[in-house]
Amino acid sequence: MIIAVDGPAASGKGTIAKALARHYKLPHLDTGLLYRAVALTVRRLDLDAEKEADAVAACGFDDLTLADPALRTDEIGQLASVVSAHPLVRAALLQRQKRFAHQEGGAVLDGRDIGTVIAPDATAKLFVKATPQVRAQRRHAELKMHGSTVSFDKVLADIRARDARDSGRSAAPLVQAPDAVTLDTSFLSIEASVQRAVEIVEAARAG
Ligand code: C5P
Repeated sequence: MIIAVDGPAASGKGTIAKALARHYKLPHLDTGLLYRAVALTVRRLDLDAEKEADAVAACGFDDLTLADPALRTDEIGQLASVVSAHPLVRAALLQRQKRFAHQEGGAVLDGRDIGTVIAPDATAKLFVKATPQVRAQRRHAELKMHGSTVSFDKVLADIRARDARDSGRSAAPLVQAPDAVTLDTSFLSIEASVQRAVEIVEAARAG
């Protein structure tokens, strides 16, 4: 069984995908980490994220990079959204994701184009969303917890900028697959969101 979980930044898709993987005992891939690893490699090699050839050169990152805590910053998230708009970067990361999705026994993947490009044949497709305000509140609280003093307005502006870039690009833009079920987490607790996600998967399995 392949479960595809797509949605914008800070929508709750990662938390939901992890919980689904635990629930169904399936391996999980956070595909955003791959683009973040490219971004971090671009930064460390002092390359130019806007240049496709530079970003492609960073796609050969060492797998150890995927565990680097530096991947989690908002700055690398923004840069990931710049490198991920290059078609050749997406092409370089495609097979790895398809292989993961189609491994024996199945998998849960979260990202922006899982239901549309990586696994259009997924058993269940969820599109997780929340209002930009709610997503910014969550991200702001998280950043504050980690000692950041960034303002709410800056976080909201960053979320809007990333949404615009991810939705506006021509290569695999963030769009809901026609057969994906929407899960709006704006006014749901984590527990309620996960419960609803399991219900969606069960309904999809039942066909
Ligand atoms: O999900 P996360 O915030 O970690 O993703 C970072 C960036 O990577 C996104 O803003 C998006 O531009 C890109 N991404 C993508 N396709 C995916 C996953 C992430 O383009 N499947």
